[in-house]
Amino acid sequence: MNIEELEKIKQKALDEHIPIIMDDTLEVVDKILKEIKPKRILEIGTAVGYSAMCFSEYLQEGGKIDTIERDEERIAEAKINIKNVGVEDKINIYEGDAVEILPTLNEKYDVVFIDAAKGKYPFFLEQALRMINKNGVILADNILYKGYVMSDYNKHKQRTAVRNLREYIKEVTENPNIQTEILEVGDGLAISKIEEK
Ligand code: SAH
Ligand code: MG
Repeated sequence: MNIEELEKIKQKALDEHIPIIMDDTLEVVDKILKEIKPKRILEIGTAVGYSAMCFSEYLQEGGKIDTIERDEERIAEAKINIKNVGVEDKINIYEGDAVEILPTLNEKYDVVFIDAAKGKYPFFLEQALRMINKNGVILADNILYKGYVMSDYNKHKQRTAVRNLREYIKEVTENPNIQTEILEVGDGLAISKIEEK
């Protein structure tokens, strides 16, 4: 893994306002991955591949990340980035809308990282729960959405996203088989451990 190249990719993404995982969020995810040592990770929302490349360092020998992205330009850039960093044997990109791709997948994953359209989080959760291994972890980035989710202000134009993020939180906190923690790192991170299947 070419760390120098990864750092360049990160800088470029930040300069171009691509919403890559924030440093404090990544720190928390790193710790979780170190503990789990996953064999299989599913990511929803690749962007230019930054988070997937960071996560790939914690895979077991022979492990693999599947990541889904619908934006063609970002897919093209992610492919180049992944090659330049030297992790192309660890990351597989599914090209297209996750809403269409997820139902076609029939894998089992140790970790699912949800980081795409906020209005679709409840659907992504349903699909993640279908494929997560027992003792696996489902992570949802941007779960607090600039604080909108925990405020009672309901009139902004992002209200569909906010409603769906709240529904996600309700589901992961009320399900007795899931242990959930919500951290105020970055834009908010929900960490859900699946204790029963
Ligand atoms: N995980 C990345 C950042 C992802 S940004 C990182 O931390 O480096 C969110 C990405 O999700 C965007 O590139 C957007 O195009 C993609 N996306 C949003 N909704 C999607 C959907 N329904 N299907 C596939 N990709 C989606
Ligand atoms: Mg994010």
